[in-house]
Amino acid sequence: MPTTNQPELATEWFDGRSPRPRRALLRCEGRELIVRLPEDQEPGDRRYLLRGIRWPERRSHGLRHTELPDGSLIQHADAREWDAWAQSNGLLESTVVGWMQSWRGAVGAMVATVVFLAAAWFWGVPLLSTAIAHSIPHSVEASIGEASLKQLRALFLKPSELPESQQAKLRQGFAALVQNAYPEGDAPPWQLSFHKSKALGANAFALPGGQIVITDELVNMLDDVPDATLGILAHELGHVEHRHGLDLLVRASLVSAVVGVVIGDASGFLATVPATLATQAYSRDAERQSDAQAAHMLHASGISPAVMATFFERLQDNEVSTGDGTARSRKPSAEPGGEEVSASLPIAISSHPDHAERIRYFRNWTPSGDDADWRAQ
Ligand SMILES: [Zn+2]
Repeated sequence: MPTTNQPELATEWFDGRSPRPRRALLRCEGRELIVRLPEDQEPGDRRYLLRGIRWPERRSHGLRHTELPDGSLIQHADAREWDAWAQSNGLLESTVVGWMQSWRGAVGAMVATVVFLAAAWFWGVPLLSTAIAHSIPHSVEASIGEASLKQLRALFLKPSELPESQQAKLRQGFAALVQNAYPEGDAPPWQLSFHKSKALGANAFALPGGQIVITDELVNMLDDVPDATLGILAHELGHVEHRHGLDLLVRASLVSAVVGVVIGDASGFLATVPATLATQAYSRDAERQSDAQAAHMLHASGISPAVMATFFERLQDNEVSTGDGTARSRKPSAEPGGEEVSASLPIAISSHPDHAERIRYFRNWTPSGDDADWRAQ
């Protein structure tokens, strides 16, 4: 008869076929449970790996019922005796069993899961989409921008009617503004194009890769304050610098974007681009970042950012005089005859909400502000 220092427990064992219980002695040895039946019934020990055994859950009363991997069972009538034996063998201490037995643990695990999912949603998705957006090569970004511009041209944009000289003057003015803000020549790439757009009205927007579009209507509205026009272009360059357009596209189609990056086939992601760019808006944080960029760039050229307030004030006046509070939520559309009607492009600057807040921001801006991190990392 083998001897051991481990405590033994006399209990009842069922072979899983007959309802007749048999007396058995249990003990643990290393990672095994040893079941010993009376010598005359079965010579030798039955050995089971501990981790293959379904141990009973600990309750305050009742039978302790244990299932063994070969389909046989142990039933122990005295719960306290079982628990004492199990505890002395370290069988009740496994974390999982402990959690299962504790309401507090179960609730805690649930709360932790919810917190994890919420954190993944609030921080994980933006982090992931930003990481993906930054892992997309600039050449792909540029071709996304070009394809999108083509689409938007068909929807909203007509050739500009501004005199070449006026276009050239604004282009040069903006180039100088960029040069002053990026004296080391590390500005993001940009291409400026002028378009007439009855549908968008006085407006400007930027596309991935650095396409910046400004409407004749906006240039004319700010005819007497061209510095404000430059500030708007600087705001748009902020969206380019921080890759907000790509970020928006990736976030709106995270799954196909992940698949695109992982398997290197971006066609599913690219298919969603035009619809996404025409209907989604930048986040408020993205707008604030771009406003900060506009303020810093104007300041770098010795222009007071307060000049931007004129733009938002005139937008406000226009909206009041046309009663146009709701038209901004309309989907892009064109009349069947061809002439465009008023439409909204959420990424465009006139669609950004809260003119009053932004007027305050630009009026009160000082160079020592907290938004000194206006440059992308
Ligand atoms: Zn913006």
